[in-house]
Amino acid sequence: MEYFLSEQQKEIKALARTIAEERILPVRAELDEKEEFPWEIMKVLADTDMCGVFIPEEYGGLGGGVLDLCLVVEELSRVCSGVAVSYAASALGTFTLLVYGTEEQKRKYLPDIASGRKLAAFGLTEATAGSDAGGIKTTATRTSGGYILNGTKQFITNGGQAEIYTVIALTAKEKGPRGASAFLVEKGTPGFSFGRKEKKLGIRASATTELVFEDCLVPEGNILGREGMGFILTMKLLDRSRPGLGAQAVGLAQGALEAAVEYARQRIQFGHAIFAQQAVQIMLADMAMQVEAARALVYAVAKTIDSGAKDFTRESAMSKVFASDTAMKVTTDAMQIFGGVGYMRDYPVEKMFRDAKITQIYEGTNQVLRTAIAFELRKKKGV
Ligand SMILES: Cc1cc2nc3c(=O)[nH]c(=O)nc-3n(C[C@H](O)[C@H](O)[C@H](O)COP(=O)(O)OP(=O)(O)OC[C@H]3O[C@@H](n4cnc5c(N)ncnc54)[C@H](O)[C@@H]3O)c2cc1C
Repeated sequence: MEYFLSEQQKEIKALARTIAEERILPVRAELDEKEEFPWEIMKVLADTDMCGVFIPEEYGGLGGGVLDLCLVVEELSRVCSGVAVSYAASALGTFTLLVYGTEEQKRKYLPDIASGRKLAAFGLTEATAGSDAGGIKTTATRTSGGYILNGTKQFITNGGQAEIYTVIALTAKEKGPRGASAFLVEKGTPGFSFGRKEKKLGIRASATTELVFEDCLVPEGNILGREGMGFILTMKLLDRSRPGLGAQAVGLAQGALEAAVEYARQRIQFGHAIFAQQAVQIMLADMAMQVEAARALVYAVAKTIDSGAKDFTRESAMSKVFASDTAMKVTTDAMQIFGGVGYMRDYPVEKMFRDAKITQIYEGTNQVLRTAIAFELRKKKGV
């Protein structure tokens, strides 16, 4: 379908596809098996300016927006979602700085992220605070010249690998969610370390760890926005990042669709390719429709954000929920079309099926986001 991408966006998408096919495809099974962080591929993405596609040129990026980011994430995810999320999580850790950082903070941190010299990450979740982010316990106590952080974040993508972390902590415990603030914390800051590294079902090339803060002094100049703005900034960040997660799901589903079509053309049963069976054709046609519909929604929401729209909470949630449900459905059907071999690690759909599940869980579970969409429906007239 024609999505009327700019020339630069077409080039970015084509380059991301080439990198995915030439550099990621040969190593994806090994990265998955060994649960190895894809540093070599991150270096390729850095050398080809992919890390800065969404960052303004004045800070060393290519000057694109959320759609440009989505195009790269989609193409990487079509081949390996574990690599794609390692790339995308850096944007997740950067958006708050990009939109709400001071000029000084942007000049200090964005050029390194845009060039790919440093990765970023975002730390909100804790053992007691998942869907209910208001349950965080990490504190940031004001002291002379800064804040002292104490607490543990869990399930943080790029944990240990990133150099720059956006961390949400309570500056006023008694105010609950209104007492949270956002901080930039650099790897290597005394009192900041990494705890348990998770062993996962899918996206196994990505790193997921705890962030541990023990009397960690963060300079005053590293607060993002003002004290008490932590949750507002988080909600706005997630509104902006969710289409990227949708793009991860679209890429995954596209990869599974292509693999299923190819297999259905080759696999002979009852004297014919299984593609000749109407039951298989109907499944493939449904998969193709679902992938295209998800892509159209993700691109449309990304374009809405890039156009400068102010309120896109509902649309952003819709793109994430619809695309991730599509990825789960399409990868499940792809495995069904592969039959028994689809269940084996020798074929890529087994990995795609495992990788798809997380897209329904992180950056807001699909149940929680459905309630958020319904809440927005109740607020708005003429929906
Ligand atoms: C691989 C991975 C990477 C991650 N990366 C990051 C990261 O980089 N940064 C970060 O901060 N976090 C990250 N997370 C955390 C992720 O965002 C949370 O796991 C997610 O938001 C869900 O929280 P939870 O796991 O505590 O589930 P819970 O909140 O305990 O939910 C459990 C179940 O209850 C349901 N539920 C809970 N509340 C409601 C409700 N109000 N209405 C309906 N249903 C509800 C949920 O939908 C779910 O089915 C990551 C998680 C994983 C697994």
